[in-house]
Amino acid sequence: MTLIGHSITGAAVAAVVVPSRFSTGSKMLCAVLFAVLANTPDFRLPGWGHDRYDISHSIFMSVAIMAVLAAPFMCSSSLRRKVGGRVVVAVAALTWLSHLLLDTFYNHGQGIGLFWPVSSANVALPIPWFETVSEGLPYFDSHTLRVWMIEFACYSMVFLTIVGIRMAMRMKKKSLP
Ligand SMILES: [Zn+2]
Repeated sequence: MTLIGHSITGAAVAAVVVPSRFSTGSKMLCAVLFAVLANTPDFRLPGWGHDRYDISHSIFMSVAIMAVLAAPFMCSSSLRRKVGGRVVVAVAALTWLSHLLLDTFYNHGQGIGLFWPVSSANVALPIPWFETVSEGLPYFDSHTLRVWMIEFACYSMVFLTIVGIRMAMRMKKKSLP
């Protein structure tokens, strides 16, 4: 998926787990942080292997890095409280993993090296309307815009459904005696 699909998915996950006691600003910040986490495997870092979809898109590498990043929060109760608790930390880690699932949806069917370095097999779950965008220039051609619009339409529906369910649950909770 492109930045659009991953970012909306990250924001949708944040909408599910961020505590309602958080201020609007904190909720927005969480949505941005979750969106960044959802895009992490696509970062253009040296040796990260984004173009090969192996190291950067390996579930083993992802879990290992997430464990290191989550360790301070799991060890410190005050840090955990600040971010909303264990569930928020665990779901933030799952947001990173959502990236791997979404990238298997590309219609080219090449898949990702999900189990690198244990297996060289590529995992693909192609969905016909999810296409890649070109890596080179021009970045903003008609094909890229069409891909972004399709992702925006699909993932916005997911986001709005999740936000709607969360709002309905909150209203129901308030109406209880
Ligand atoms: Zn990716």
